[in-house]
Amino acid sequence: MARYTGAVCKLCRREGQKLFLKGDRCYTGKCAVERRSYAPGQHGQGRKKPTEYSLQLRAKQTARRYYGLSESQFHKYYEMAARKQGVTGDHLLQLCESRLDNVVYLLGWGASRAEARQLVTHGHFQVNGKKVDIPSYLLRAGEEVSIREKSRDSEKIKQVLESGASRPVPAWLDLDRENCRGKVVELPARDMIHVPVEEHLIVEFYSK
Ligand code: SF4
Repeated sequence: MARYTGAVCKLCRREGQKLFLKGDRCYTGKCAVERRSYAPGQHGQGRKKPTEYSLQLRAKQTARRYYGLSESQFHKYYEMAARKQGVTGDHLLQLCESRLDNVVYLLGWGASRAEARQLVTHGHFQVNGKKVDIPSYLLRAGEEVSIREKSRDSEKIKQVLESGASRPVPAWLDLDRENCRGKVVELPARDMIHVPVEEHLIVEFYSK
């Protein structure tokens, strides 16, 4: 799967808002959005009235980049969401939120979603007691994520645990810090999801 490997701060600047892709740096004055709050490139400072299409495209790109997903993965989630009963936009975001890499990040076990994804692929986590190294694994309510016993002594994991210790955990997850375990209490409703987009624009983008 092709993944974007360029400068991630450019993605935030393109979307005109912080997507928190770089961990701790995002909370400092070094954040590129704070220093240069215009789009990258030669025409980044030009002002153009956005069209309906461009608003929809930007909403889709914002959500996709926020979760670090490829176009095909994100589109697949849209199709899954569209097949469910209820509000497609809500289902779409809920699918993105329930990915293992995202849950690992929200539990504070990664400075960014990208780091959480890398730790998952390196095999540091279990779901319901079994090793899972697939970042796109979709967690369900009641499932438990834990850091593997033998990973808990690794320097990297110790460092990650220390830096994420003060980060608040969303209400739909229950973290047992001491035992390095987190449980999905319920899948998140829209008001528990903080992705900065109007998801109806994404649905409009794909349903053309
Ligand atoms: Fe985005 Fe973080 Fe870079 Fe700021 S520091 S532009 S929030 S990735």
